[in-house]
Amino acid sequence: MSVKLDILPLKHWLNTDVTPLIISGPCSAESEKQVLDTARAVAMIPNVKIFRAGIWKPRTRPGLFEGAGIEGLKWISKIKEETGLLTTVEVASPLHVEAALKFGIDILWIGARTVVNPFSLQDLANVLKGVDIPVMVKNPVNPDLNLWIGALERINQAGIKKIAAIHRGFYFFDKTPYRNAPMWEIPIELKRQIPDLPVICDPSHICGDRESLRDISQKALDLEMNGLMIETHIDPEHALTDPQQQITPAHLKELIDSLIIREEKGNIEFESKLEELRTEIDKLDAELINILARRMCLIDEIGKYKRDHNITILQLKRWSNIVRDRLNTGLDSGLNKEFLQKLLEIVHTESIQRQADLYRERNGHV
Ligand code: PEP
Ligand code: MN
Repeated sequence: MSVKLDILPLKHWLNTDVTPLIISGPCSAESEKQVLDTARAVAMIPNVKIFRAGIWKPRTRPGLFEGAGIEGLKWISKIKEETGLLTTVEVASPLHVEAALKFGIDILWIGARTVVNPFSLQDLANVLKGVDIPVMVKNPVNPDLNLWIGALERINQAGIKKIAAIHRGFYFFDKTPYRNAPMWEIPIELKRQIPDLPVICDPSHICGDRESLRDISQKALDLEMNGLMIETHIDPEHALTDPQQQITPAHLKELIDSLIIREEKGNIEFESKLEELRTEIDKLDAELINILARRMCLIDEIGKYKRDHNITILQLKRWSNIVRDRLNTGLDSGLNKEFLQKLLEIVHTESIQRQADLYRERNGHV
C-alpha cells in the first residue's frame, strides 16, 4: 500500500532551520522550580528550540509518580513567556489534548505506548480535527512499521499537516546494549516510504543511560535525521522518572558541541567526483553479474557432461582445491577471508543446485 501524507516542512512550523534541531527538557515536569531552572538553562543553548516535559506519565505499575497534570501545564506556560522556547507535552487522551490546548502548548507528541493502540490514535485524531497544531508521533513500542505509519495517517487525515515522527527505539525480545533497540532500518524505511516526513531521534529512550547518548545522537545525524529529543534535568540523579538517562543542561551543551555535522550534499566538485566513482561502481557491478552468468553457463555445460558420463555431481576434492586457491588469490588482493568464504559458499551452492536440476531432468522428474 502506498503512503500519501500531506506534510508541511519542519521549517514552516518552527520558523527556523537550525541543524540539528534540539528538543530538550525533563522526562517529567516535577515542580515549578525544576521546570523553570531546566528551561532557563537549555534556552541558552542555540540549537534548543523546543522545551519538552511529560505532564501525564505512563507508568508500568500504579502508585509511582504519574505526572503533575494540569498544575504542570501552568508551569510550562510560564516557560514560553519567559524563554521564548516552543513547548511540547505528551498527550494520550482527548482530555489531555483539550487541556494542552487550553494552556497554549505549541506542539503535541504522542507516546510509544499510545501509538500501539489504533483506537486511542483515532480518539486523538477525532479531537484534533480542525485544530492547527503540530503533532509528533513516536514509534510504537513494538517494531511494527505499519502501526507507526497508521498512526501518522490517522493524525494527517484529521487535517494536521505539521507532523513529524520520533524514533525512540523498539522493544526487542533478546538482550541488547540499549533500553530500546534502535533498529535503524525501520526509521530508514519510514523515510523511504514518506520522504517529506521529518524524523527526529530520541536517543534518551533508546539508550536508557547517559553513556551511549552521544554515539546514538551522532548516528542519527549521520542517517540524516532532522533533529534530536534529549531529556535534561537540573538534578538528573534525583529525577522522579528516568533518572539513569537524563543529563544536565551543561552536559547537553557539551554533547551538542561534540557532534559532527556532515552535509547531506557536498559542493559541485565533490558531487561530480562522487558521480564519477558511482559510475565506475555501476560498470563493475554489470561486469560482475555478466561474469557470474558466464560462470553458471559453464557450470551447466560441465553438469551435462558429467551427467552424460554417469559421474556424480559433487566432486569434493575439486571443491576444496578451488576454495584454497580462490582464498589465496582473494587474500592477496586484500579481500576479507570471511567475506570470501561466504561468497564461494553461495556460488558453490547455486552451482550444485543447477547441476542437480539437470540430473533431475534426465531422471524424468521434470
Ligand atoms: C517520554 O518521552 O518521556 C516517554 C514516556 O517516552 P516513550 O513514549 O518513548 O516511552
Ligand atoms: Mn522519559
